[in-house]
Parts: sequence; C-alpha cells; structure tokens
Amino acid sequence: MTIVTLDRDQISTLLGEQRDAYDALKARDLALDLTRGKPGADQLDLSNALLSLPGSDDYRAADGTDTRNYGGLDGLPELRAIFSDLLGIPVDQLLAQGNSSLTLMHDVIVWALLHGFDDSPRPWSAEETVKFVCPVPGYDRHFALLESLGIEMVTVDMLSDGPDVDAVAALIGSDPSFKGLWLVPTYANPTGVTTTPEVAARLMALPAAAPDFRVFWDNAYAVHHLTETETKSAAALELAAAGGHPDRVVFFASTSKITFAGSGVAFFGSSPANVAWFRRHLSFASIGPDKVNQLRHVRFFGDADGVRAHMHEHTELLAPKFAAVEQILTDRLASYGVARWSTPTGGYFVDLDVVDGTAARVVELAKGAGIALTPAGSAFPYKQDPNDRNIRIAPTFASMDDLRTAMEGVATCVLLAAAEKALA
Ligand code: PMP
Repeated sequence: MTIVTLDRDQISTLLGEQRDAYDALKARDLALDLTRGKPGADQLDLSNALLSLPGSDDYRAADGTDTRNYGGLDGLPELRAIFSDLLGIPVDQLLAQGNSSLTLMHDVIVWALLHGFDDSPRPWSAEETVKFVCPVPGYDRHFALLESLGIEMVTVDMLSDGPDVDAVAALIGSDPSFKGLWLVPTYANPTGVTTTPEVAARLMALPAAAPDFRVFWDNAYAVHHLTETETKSAAALELAAAGGHPDRVVFFASTSKITFAGSGVAFFGSSPANVAWFRRHLSFASIGPDKVNQLRHVRFFGDADGVRAHMHEHTELLAPKFAAVEQILTDRLASYGVARWSTPTGGYFVDLDVVDGTAARVVELAKGAGIALTPAGSAFPYKQDPNDRNIRIAPTFASMDDLRTAMEGVATCVLLAAAEKALA
C-alpha cells in the first residue's frame, strides 16, 4: 500500500488520523530543535581533557617555539603532520589556522575577488559575472556565503557517486564566468554521499573555460564515520595534478566536529602555488594562528591513530541516533510511499525528501508543534528548492529521547502534509 493506491475515503481516514496525532503532538508543548548539525554535549565531553591542556608548564612546540607568542603563520608542524596523514595532504601543503574552516573559505573567495589567483586573468570582481557550480542538495552556508558576495549560483544534481560531472562539464567547458564549484567530498552535507575517486578524477580533468577554475573541496566530514567502514576520501590534489590541473583544488577541513565546535582548528591545503598565494594574502591579515590551541590538540591526540580512536567514540554516540531516525522513518512512512531518505554511513545529516510541494508545509507543521527543522529549501542556492521536497534532518544535538519524540512528530507532519496534498 502507498498513498497513491488509496482511494479518497481512505486518504480522508488517513488525514483524520494524522490530524488527531498532530493535535496530540501540539498538546505536548514541545520545544525541540533538529535544525543545525551541532555536536551533542556528550560528544563535546569526549574532548574535555583539552580544557586543561597543554598545562601551565607546557607551551613549547616540538622545535622549542614558545606557542604563547606571535608567529608561525603556517600553524604547528606537528599538528599539521597528524592531519596530513588523515587528510592525505603533504605537510608543507597543509596549513593549520584558526577555529573555522568556513572563515578560510570566505577569505579565499574574498581574496580571489579582490586580487584573483596567480593564474587569474584579472581579479574575479573585475569580471562581469562570477558563477559557481553548486551541487544540490548542498550546504546552506556555502550558498549564503556566495550570495552575500554577489556570486551567481547554478545547480547540478548531487548523484549517488558525487556531483553530476556531465552537467558540470557542460557548464564550465564553455562559460569562463564559472570560477568555482563547491564540493563536500566525503559524507556530504546533507546527502551523505561520498564522491568516488572516478568522479573526482573526471572533475579534476575537465576542461574549464576559466583558466583559474577552482574546486572548493570542503572535507568537513573526512573522518566522521558512522560505521566500522572508514570510507577514504578521493585523493584530490593527486587527481588534480594527474588531470593536468595541479592548482584546481583548494582544500578545507577542521576539527569542529572532532573536538570543540567553537574552539577547534581549521586547515587549508592546496598545491604549492596556491599555498604560497594563500600565505601571501594571509600575512596581511594575521601574525600567526592560536598555537596554544594547536598545541593542546597535539597533546590530546598524540598522533593520527589518536584521532581515529577519538572518532570511534563519536561513532558510538552517534550511530544509535542515526539508527533511531532510520527506524522511525521506516516504521512510520515506508509503507505509505510518501518519503525517501538517506541512510548515511558518515557525516551529520539525514536527507529527507517528502512528497513534492509539501516540504515547506511539513516544516511549518513541525514548527506549530514545537519542532524546529531547517527551513525548507535551505539546501539550495537562494533557499529555493524547485520541487519543495527536501528537508535536512540533523540528529546529533538532541538527546536520544528528544530525537525520538521529534522524529515521531516529523513523521506525523510528513503524513499529514501528504494526505492534505492528496486531497487538495
Ligand atoms: N563545511 C561543512 C560542509 C559543514 O557542514 C560545516 C559545519 N556545519 C562547516 C563547513 C563549518 O566548518 P567550521 O566549523 O570549520 O567553520
């Protein structure tokens, strides 16, 4: 049985049932929030040892540098070495910076607008139009950042093995105003898709009309596995060099969802030429990053295996939450055929597609019942989901009880909106 096989009387019955369920939900006066992919307090607790590191008598880096003082623009070499191993970027091409990778992405784009890259014919802002290819559904802050800078966004679909490369090729091959492409290569926000090495290799080899076309490779979830399988990210820099475009990739990552979301360390990686470009512009903005924070991360992890073991503890906290979401969606919705959702093996989100034309209604209904969801359309440029069907679920922050209550409520809203639509 699915909703399309029900006759009007049966749908009316379903609508009545879901209205009753919704009224009961509202009566509970809930105040639950599934909007943002924040770590839960239990996850943050895993890193509490950081709060007393490096300790009052431990402030020297491996080479004797006093981390309390100015300097060291590239970040602590020993921390970069740990993450070089995990992220697959040579140490001298991986810089450790402040707490936010989003800030680094912002700065790179602003510098490209103001100055251009070394291979840019002119600063991006001197072009009539600057466009980015945006695989959708994607990360809302990527899109908001481009919108704030007046960069036009053109969508391509995120497929099960990465962005639709044929569609990317058709856009960037002939139009030099395409300067960039966003990509969350591993456990993407929000689809959970990992871009395969084959798709990554094609992306890196594609002819681009703009000589300074860049792939913004935001590997925010590189080590954020939800199962025992440690999916490896495609080797972006190597593939770019092999594809004949060694400077195509600008790489970002951070420990925001490894240690403390607000006090982690962000990384920038790229080709030697791009790293030199980045460092040159950075040197006008900073005398050096927070090396004390970097040192305490080094002390906390020890080595790359320390990070892996720590991520395993996150998995143990998060896997049951994702399993609960999967179970509730399956139990409540599968038989009606009113939704499709991702079953991610890593990352922070479940991507839920409801009946076309009802996502905004579902979010509105949920809000009315005290359940905050990310606004419909958020995973699309300009917040416009052409099918009004996509909802991003962020299960990590809520307690297990709250998550279950919220997901039961979301299921009720999805069914109610589907029944309303079917009878409209
Ligand atoms: N990129 C992606 C894909 C994200 O999902 C997030 C966090 N939601 C970020 C970047 C933000 O990273 P940071 O905390 O390092 O700024």
